[in-house]
Amino acid sequence: MQQTAVFPGRYVQSEDALALLGDEIARLGKHALLIAGGSAARAILPGRLPAWREKFDATIEHFGGECSDAEVDRLAKVALGQSCDVVIGMGGGKVIDAAKAVAHAAKARVAIVPTIASTDAPTSAVAVIYEPSGAFSRYLFLPRNPDLVLMDTSVIAAAPVRFLVAGMGDALSTWFEADSCRQAHAVNQCGGVGTLAGYAIARLCYDTILEYGEAALAACRMKVVTPALSHVVEANTLHSGVGFECGGLASAHSIHNGLTQLAGTHDYYHGEKVAIGVLAGLFLADRPKSMIEEVYGFCERIGLPTTLAQIGLPNITDDDLWLVARRACAEGETMHHEPRSVTPQAVMAALKAADEVGKRRKSS
Ligand SMILES: [Zn+2]
Repeated sequence: MQQTAVFPGRYVQSEDALALLGDEIARLGKHALLIAGGSAARAILPGRLPAWREKFDATIEHFGGECSDAEVDRLAKVALGQSCDVVIGMGGGKVIDAAKAVAHAAKARVAIVPTIASTDAPTSAVAVIYEPSGAFSRYLFLPRNPDLVLMDTSVIAAAPVRFLVAGMGDALSTWFEADSCRQAHAVNQCGGVGTLAGYAIARLCYDTILEYGEAALAACRMKVVTPALSHVVEANTLHSGVGFECGGLASAHSIHNGLTQLAGTHDYYHGEKVAIGVLAGLFLADRPKSMIEEVYGFCERIGLPTTLAQIGLPNITDDDLWLVARRACAEGETMHHEPRSVTPQAVMAALKAADEVGKRRKSS
């Protein structure tokens, strides 16, 4: 049995970690293509670029908004044209995924500098490619993990709390999906069966957000960095990233991919839709009542959605639910990593059950 685990080359997290970026990039190359999301371009670059440019040359490109094939091609042409040996992705999940894909196409090293802790994309060797419309297209598996992930906790604390909450939604799925893969001996996201380290980190992820999630949220509301906030930033980014990649994905992310088929969900974040996938997964996997209580209670306390209406799908029709369920069970989906075989009918039933429990708890 082949077991595989992968990790990012280097993970740096601190308050004011951005001050370290010049030295960190200088380890990797001389000329960086810096792909900046909107808030990074406005709030970070003006004050920081002069100091960074003492350590490396930088070509700045503004991210076009969607991690699509067309955007990746556009940015890769810039990187090749400017002979960039490092690509820096600075922003949210889609900027990060685009930077990974661009670096691969341009044969450059890659540094990831998230400005929010909303997904576990930063550490992994996977990029999610979307259609220009925003619908999920495919996973792009890359031959190596990012060379550097640099998390500035002051930047995360200053970002809207909804991002941190969404990150906890993504992190909430990590242990459940790794556990499904462990039971099924299913392959993880790096081409083997999970290692004990991968499963342990996935469990650490779950334990950390349940222990510190509420306190981290309070810190983020006050825009201050506390140990609890730092723990949750680490869980959302490093534990969840290593945990999903080394442990494997299963039903929650397949249901997320199904939900993206419906335009009503496009204004909601990845982690918010994944949280609905986790809740439905509790019923699919026949989890015990105590665990169902624990997960719903956590979601409610930190403000993750527990009903379909909360991800833009009030009054969803059976036809739409069927579309989601069929997409979630499509060939090649990680739904097939669940220990029992799952049909679209079962997914539809689980989504209805999860939504009903969410609604009933809200009204009681
Ligand atoms: Zn995810």
